[in-house]
Amino acid sequence: MDHVGSIFRPPSEAQSLLLQVSLGCSHNACTYCAMYDDPAQHFRIKPWDTVAADIDETARLAESGTPVRRVFLCDGDALILPTDHLARILARLRERVPSVRRVGIYGDARSILRKTTAELVQLRELGLGIVYHGAESGDDRVLDRVNKGSTADEAAAAAHRLREAGLRHSVMVMLGLGGVARSSEHAAATAALLSEMDPPFVGALTTTVVPGTPLAAAEAAGDFVLPNPWGLLEELRTLIRESVFSRCRFHANHASNYLPLSLNLPADRERALAALDGVLNRRDPDDLVPEYRRGL
Ligand code: SF4
Repeated sequence: MDHVGSIFRPPSEAQSLLLQVSLGCSHNACTYCAMYDDPAQHFRIKPWDTVAADIDETARLAESGTPVRRVFLCDGDALILPTDHLARILARLRERVPSVRRVGIYGDARSILRKTTAELVQLRELGLGIVYHGAESGDDRVLDRVNKGSTADEAAAAAHRLREAGLRHSVMVMLGLGGVARSSEHAAATAALLSEMDPPFVGALTTTVVPGTPLAAAEAAGDFVLPNPWGLLEELRTLIRESVFSRCRFHANHASNYLPLSLNLPADRERALAALDGVLNRRDPDDLVPEYRRGL
């Protein structure tokens, strides 16, 4: 497979075949993100012949007995690719690797809203199953400060469009992204946004200040202070308490998190709040994942 640079994928795509159809991220400007800093991985669409050859290699793998049920289209916001190009990739996958049951992709509010509902339906009918969307915050001041390139209203509109198109939606949000200064506003607005989006999957990650990023520079200048673990858990508590979901698999068990939780909401809400209250009242560091075991 032709893999260029670092390949990122959602944790739930761990078993998927990773098909890199583009490099980098067309936005590449969020202040906390260093995923595609390497100039060799700046945004571009990979040539069709390269992608087609990878699909053919996948077909040979499947024919030789390696089960290929899920495929994830990389890189960062591959949904930004023109619909015709994505449709061609999906059609080739369907034709050459019929064992594939679901295709996933990263998309954000910009890339989702650039597609009409009819275009998204076309992609779904060709096998696209789920869009992973880093909404990060419901607080427009935070989104503006981290240069997310979209607003909370746009994230909500993107969720509605995916639902209209029958595509599953997995939304990531970032604990601590508003810093100490905006912690409670960030948490409350993010809960409100998640309620508006009402996705079937949510992942709550913890902000990590990556050296070399604009966020790290802001931290060094004293303009950004990441909440401590208890402040981050207060934010998580607000998300769980205030988000109103029809039915949501809510994960806060990313490697970056201090207290791994995996919940069905709303069913598990009271149990989770009681557990969080216990940890917040005790303030015992032994209740938390130690720093050496945390990761990005
Ligand atoms: S949209 Fe995602 S991949 Fe692109 S810069 Fe922002 S966080 Fe990084």
